[in-house]
Amino acid sequence: MVATPKDAQSQHTPMMQQYLRIKAEHPDMLVFYRMGDFYELFYNDAKRAAELIDITLTTRGKSGGQPIPMAGVPYHAADNYLARLVRQGESVAICEQIGDPKTSKGPVERQVVRIVTPGTLTDDALLESREENLVAAVYKSSAGIGLAWLELSSGRFCVAEPESLSALEAELARLKPAEVLVDEMLAESDEFSMRAGMRSIPPWNFDLDTSHRELCKQFGTKDLAGFGCEDLKHATCAAGALLQYVRDTQRTALPHLRSINAEQNRDALLMDAATRRNLEIDSSLAGRNEHTLAGIIDRCATPMGSRLLRRWLNRPLRDHGTLERRYAAVKALLYEKSDTLHDLLREVGDLERILARIALGSARPRDLSQLRNALALLPEFKALLHLSKAERLSHLAMDAGDHKATLLLLESAIVDEPPMLIRDGGVIKKGHDAELDELRELSTNADGFLTALEKQERERTGISTLKVGYNRVHGYYIEISKGQSAKAPDDYTRRQTLKGAERYITEELKSFEDQVLSARERSLAREKQLYEALLENLRGELPGLQQMAGAIAEADVLANFANRARELDYAEPQLTDRPGLKIIGGRHPVVEKVVSEQFIANDLDMHDKRRLMIITGPNMGGKSTYMRQTALIVLLAHAGSFVPATSAIIGPVDRIFTRVGAADDLSGGRSTFMVEMTETANILHNATRKSLVLMDEIGRGTSTFDGLSLAWATAHYIGEQVGAFTLFATHYFELTSLADEIEATVNVHLDATEYKNRLVFMHTVKEGPANQSYGLQVAALAGVPGKVIDSARVYLRNLEETSLSGKAPALGTASQADEPAPATAPLFDLTPPASGSDKLRQALEKLDPDNMTPKQALEAIYNLKRKA
Ligand code: ADP
Repeated sequence: MVATPKDAQSQHTPMMQQYLRIKAEHPDMLVFYRMGDFYELFYNDAKRAAELIDITLTTRGKSGGQPIPMAGVPYHAADNYLARLVRQGESVAICEQIGDPKTSKGPVERQVVRIVTPGTLTDDALLESREENLVAAVYKSSAGIGLAWLELSSGRFCVAEPESLSALEAELARLKPAEVLVDEMLAESDEFSMRAGMRSIPPWNFDLDTSHRELCKQFGTKDLAGFGCEDLKHATCAAGALLQYVRDTQRTALPHLRSINAEQNRDALLMDAATRRNLEIDSSLAGRNEHTLAGIIDRCATPMGSRLLRRWLNRPLRDHGTLERRYAAVKALLYEKSDTLHDLLREVGDLERILARIALGSARPRDLSQLRNALALLPEFKALLHLSKAERLSHLAMDAGDHKATLLLLESAIVDEPPMLIRDGGVIKKGHDAELDELRELSTNADGFLTALEKQERERTGISTLKVGYNRVHGYYIEISKGQSAKAPDDYTRRQTLKGAERYITEELKSFEDQVLSARERSLAREKQLYEALLENLRGELPGLQQMAGAIAEADVLANFANRARELDYAEPQLTDRPGLKIIGGRHPVVEKVVSEQFIANDLDMHDKRRLMIITGPNMGGKSTYMRQTALIVLLAHAGSFVPATSAIIGPVDRIFTRVGAADDLSGGRSTFMVEMTETANILHNATRKSLVLMDEIGRGTSTFDGLSLAWATAHYIGEQVGAFTLFATHYFELTSLADEIEATVNVHLDATEYKNRLVFMHTVKEGPANQSYGLQVAALAGVPGKVIDSARVYLRNLEETSLSGKAPALGTASQADEPAPATAPLFDLTPPASGSDKLRQALEKLDPDNMTPKQALEAIYNLKRKA
C-alpha cells in the first residue's frame, strides 16, 4: 500500500497524483503503470516486485518531498515477468496510456485495461499448455454449499452443490483451482481452511437475484433451467460472483462463456482428496510427474486433448453406455488409424485457447493463422473419423462441422506466415482490402522515389558520395561527408551533425516524408481496423468453432487411448451390472514402467462371496502395488480407456477410497496416526456396497496392541457392516482369522521365499494367508546391522515361547517395531524356493550377499529369478 497520506496528495507531481488515484482503486494487487516503453511499479509495489522477480529497485525523483521507490520491466518482455508474478499468486493490474501524449495537457490519460490474476489467465505465455487453469468461487449458507468454476481460457463454466464441507474439499482437490473466491465471512470462519489462492470478496457479490440476472444476461436466456441450474440456488450465487469477478478483471465482453454445466455427483465415480493423492493420478507423492497415471497415459497430440484427458482421469464416469461408446471408438482406432489421426492432430494446435483469445479480443495474428491451418485439416479429420465406423467418432465428426466460410475468410485475410504482433503490420493479405493495398503501395514506393532523389541530388550538387537515408529518430535525410559539406546547396536545412558527416532535409524530402509516414501510419491503422473486424466476424462463429474444438479434443483423447492400448498392451474392459471385479493378468500401469525387473501380472477375483480380501505377505512383497493397480484399472476403465490387464470384468462402482501410506500431514499439523484415523473414519462412514476400498497397513502409527485392535475392528466393521469391495493389506497376521468369522472374507498373500536368510520376492498373489512375516529379513535387506538382527531374533523367539506358553507377550516395549512377528509360523524355515528349479537354488547359493549392498543383493536375486 502507498505510504503517503491522502491529504498530502496535492504535494505530488500531477503524474504521481494520477498514479496514486489508480493505485487506490487496486490496493491489493500490483499496478503495472505504463510509461513509454516500460511498466513501472512504485512504492511498496516496487519493493515487492523487486523481491519476487528480482528486478532492480531504484528511485525516481521526489514526490511529496520523498524519493519514490521504483522498479520497472520493459513492456515487450512483460509477459515473462507477469508469468513469474502470477505463479507466485500475485494479481497485476495493467495500466495503459489511453490518451495521446502529443495532445494531452498534463500526464497522459491512463486506465487499467485488464487485471491478470492467477486463475484468469488466457495468454499462452502465462499458461501451462497441458494443464487447466481454473478460478473457482464458493458460497456457503447454513442451508448448503455452492461451488462454481471456470476455465477462462476455454470458456468451460461449471457448477456443483457439494453436500458437505468434506465433499467440497474433495472437489477442490480434483479441480485444483489457481484462485478460489470466497465471501469475507466464510474466509474468516474457522470451518473453511484458508488455502493458497484464496481471495475474499464482499458478500453482496454472491446475491442470488443479481447472480441469476447476470448469468441469464451472459447466456442470453430467460432462466437457467436449460442448464439444469434453475434450482441450484447456492451454485447460482457462486457462479454469479465468479462471473462478476471475471468481468471485473477482463474488462471486456466474454462471448465465449455461453453456457454453464451442472455437474452431478451421481454421474461420477467419486474420489476424495486423499484417494486422488494416493493413486497419483496426475501428481506423484514424490513429485515426479512422469511417474503418474497421466504421465504414462498422456501422449495426446494437442494440449486441449491432454487437458481433457486429465479431466476424464480426475472425474471418471459411471454411465456404462458412455464408456462403452468410448471403448468402441478406441477399438476402431486401434490399428494404424490412431497414428494417422495423431499425426494430423499435431498440426491442429490449441484451438480451445485460441478461440478464447478471439472472444476476449486478445488473439494474436498467429492464433488466426493457426486456426486457419486447423480448419483446412477438417475434411481429412472427418474422413478419418467416418472411416472408423464407431458411433462416437461419427458423432464427433458431425460436431466438428464444416466452417468453410470461416476458412475462406481467414485464407483471404491473413498472410501465410504472419508476424507475432499486429502492431508492426504485415498481417493482412494483399488483395483483401483495396484501401490497405493503396496505402501500402504509397509507403513501399518510397524506395523508388528515394533512389531517384539520390540520383537527382548527386547530379545537382556534383557530390558523388551523397546519400539519402532514414533513421527512426530523425526521419529522412540527405547525408554529405564533412569534407564535402561546404558544397551543400542553400535549400538544404541541417538536421543532424555526425562525426564525419552532416545530414540535411529539403522541402521536397520533407513533404515526401510526411506523405510516406502518414501513409504508413494510416496503413497500420487500417490494418488494425481490419484485424478487429476479422475478430468480430469470428466471434459470430464462436459457438460452432468451440464445438469443433471440443470434438477434436475428444477424438485426440480417444486416439491417444488407442495408441496407449497398442503400445502398452492394454485390453478392453468389460462392464457388467453384476457386482464384482474379475481381473486376469492385471498390472500396475506406472510400476510396470519403472521397475527394472519384469513386472509380474496378477489376477483378482471379487464378487458377492469374496468382498473383503485380507492381504498378507512381507514388506516389499507387492501388496500396495497390487491394491493400487486394482484401483487404477477400475479408474482407467471408467475414463473410457483400455486397461493394463489381459482381461477385466468390472461391475458397478460408485466410489474409490484409499487409506494408503503414512505421510505426515506436516502442513496441516496432524500426526500420521491422526491422518490415518481421519481417513479411516471417512471410509467407514461413506463407503457403500458398490465402493472399492483400499486399506494399507492401518494401525501402523500407534502402539502394536492399539494398532492391531483398530485394524481388526476396522476390517471387521467393513466386512460385516459396510460390505464394500475391500482390499485390506496388513502386517497383523491375526487378521487372517477374520476369514473364518466373517462371510465373504478371504485371505490372499504375496508370495516370497527365503533363501540363506535372504528374501526372494515372487510378487505373485496366492490364495490363503502368508505363512511368514519376514520382518527381520527385510530389515537385514535394508541394511540393519547383523548384531541388531541377531538380538531381534533372540527376542522374537522369547516372545513366541511366551505366547505359546499362554502368558501375555511383552509387546509393549517393542511397540515401535515395524514388523511384529506373527504368533505362529517359524521364521527361519529354509525350505527351497517355491518356484524355480535346482538351478535357481545353485545360483542363489553362489551369491555372496554379505559382500553386497542390500540393493545389489536384491537386484542380483531378481535377475537370477527372472532368468530362471
Ligand atoms: P508392499 O506394499 O508389500 O510393501 P510394494 O507394493 O510397495 O510392497 O512393492 C515393493 C516393490 O516391489 C515395488 O516398488 C516394485 O519395485 C516391486 N513390485 C511390486 N509388485 C511387483 C510385481 N507385481 N512385479 C514386479 N515387481 C513388483
